[in-house]
Amino acid sequence: MADLQVIVDDSTADERRAVDDAVGEHAAVTVETERLVRGGGRRRRAARQYLLPGLHALQREIGWISPGGMNYLCAVLQVPPAEAYGVASFYEMLRTTDPGHTDSVTHVCVDPACRIAGAEALQERLESRNERVRRAPCLGQCERAPARFVPGRGEDDHIPADEKAAPGAYRLPQHGSPDLTLLRRIGAADPTSLESYREHGGYRALDRAINQGGEYVLGEIAAAELTGRGGAAFPTATKWRAVAAHPGTAKHVIANGDESEPGTFKDRILMEHDPFAVVEALTIAGLVTGAENGWIYIRGEYPLVTERLSAAVEQARAAGLLGGSVAASGQAFDIEIRRGAGAYICGEETALFNSIEGFRGEPRNKPPYPTDSGLFGEPTVVNNPETLLNVLDVLEKGWERYRERGTERSTGHRLFCVSGHVAEPGLYEAPFGLTLGELLELAGGVTGTSRAILLGGAAGAFVGPDSLDLRLTLEDARAAGVTLGSGVVTVFDDTVDMRDVVTRIAEFFREESCGQCVPCRVGTVRQHEVLVEMGPSGPLSASRRTLIDDMAAAMADASICGLGHTAASAVRSAIELGLLEAR
Ligand code: SF4
Repeated sequence: MADLQVIVDDSTADERRAVDDAVGEHAAVTVETERLVRGGGRRRRAARQYLLPGLHALQREIGWISPGGMNYLCAVLQVPPAEAYGVASFYEMLRTTDPGHTDSVTHVCVDPACRIAGAEALQERLESRNERVRRAPCLGQCERAPARFVPGRGEDDHIPADEKAAPGAYRLPQHGSPDLTLLRRIGAADPTSLESYREHGGYRALDRAINQGGEYVLGEIAAAELTGRGGAAFPTATKWRAVAAHPGTAKHVIANGDESEPGTFKDRILMEHDPFAVVEALTIAGLVTGAENGWIYIRGEYPLVTERLSAAVEQARAAGLLGGSVAASGQAFDIEIRRGAGAYICGEETALFNSIEGFRGEPRNKPPYPTDSGLFGEPTVVNNPETLLNVLDVLEKGWERYRERGTERSTGHRLFCVSGHVAEPGLYEAPFGLTLGELLELAGGVTGTSRAILLGGAAGAFVGPDSLDLRLTLEDARAAGVTLGSGVVTVFDDTVDMRDVVTRIAEFFREESCGQCVPCRVGTVRQHEVLVEMGPSGPLSASRRTLIDDMAAAMADASICGLGHTAASAVRSAIELGLLEAR
């Protein structure tokens, strides 16, 4: 056991108040001296989970995390300062150096959809007005590219006034279509009102789950063959059953709202505009698996989501739909909200556990799998919001009607995040099985001449314009050697410098690799270096091609997590399609 000395910087009264307001009630012990002792123990671990909320509170207060403020937070939560610094410095959005007199930094997205929509020009325009600009990875606003985000200081993060002005006024491209199920409440129900949610069919699925019992729900989801919508397409019922099979222990269910895959914005729209549905579905997951602890982990760049979901949880709690006896069922379940701080890797479920627990968001080795040893080492279900909303759909309609849509092996509806060079970028809902060309027609068609389409985001792969007949199902995508991933479809016309786009994808992985394992840490850097070295007109020589292939093989074989496994797939597909040929 090692002793750690708290360094001498003092906190200010404002910092202490910010920490006390945010996490004071969770203080591990009162520390009278300046010495902290590193150690484990359940009580300390429980306190440490408030480290990230405490860091957010400090940054909100003065715009950065000062050594004095950090010391105070560490004393309150009994976390060694060196470890807290390691956590703070892990996240893109947290600042451990004084930004000086400038109040805010504007984050400008430089990933594909924004890149081809004028992100560079936006950056130049802001800088010409003496604004401080930071090049940021995808901000999840691809349907309205180019995107920027202004992390706030003081009261709140910056949320554009027009987004908050008229709850329920959000307009999807398919607004009013009778074919919508997952998106049917968006633009119709007021996302700030539990009453409005109920008027639009809300909480019927929970009633059914309570009346029919957990086995019924598991049977329905299994018969519906619902699979996860995050990319891995794991059977949801199998996951839930595995956690339900651990009786008499603390368990967790988590809504993973940390979507950060470039090109993905579906869960943002669900959480912003149908937040009660996420809360209801997570509650069902808790009751069915016997987990009393629910968590919603939200991207740090989604302040409106945080506001809406926090309000939804509060209203549900006040109405007895969360708490000691959910809807008078006799079963306890409640939800805590956690906010990330800008780290793509925290969307990986085991990294997400570490992030909630107050550690750096680095993935863990599997096995053990989360259903046996997840958050705090306890059985845990992780689902994303789209998957959870499908559970509501299954319970409302019954598995037979649910399976009327989609194909034999890809059942139900799917959300697609369509961006880039189409007439109407946006979120689209369709049954599995429509073709890529049909989806693009839904989005108004390609503007210009299509050169390439990125499926599945940065971790996905490019296909050419000759792939419009590809049926969008799990099985067809697999057979074609691509992935639907999180439903990203980004279209590039023939004016786009594809080398530039692919080089940025490589840079993205280089920046987002957590660096924990060598193949990914080195492979993502070398991959990016090769593309930078080629520049706009250098040849894709045999030796460069070999290096990229070797790195890809090493990353796929020996990385710990999916980031390393997929970091080369877009680059290699671009090579296969000839997108990197000098023009
Ligand atoms: Fe970290 Fe990459 Fe290894 Fe995943 S594969 S654990 S992101 S270094």
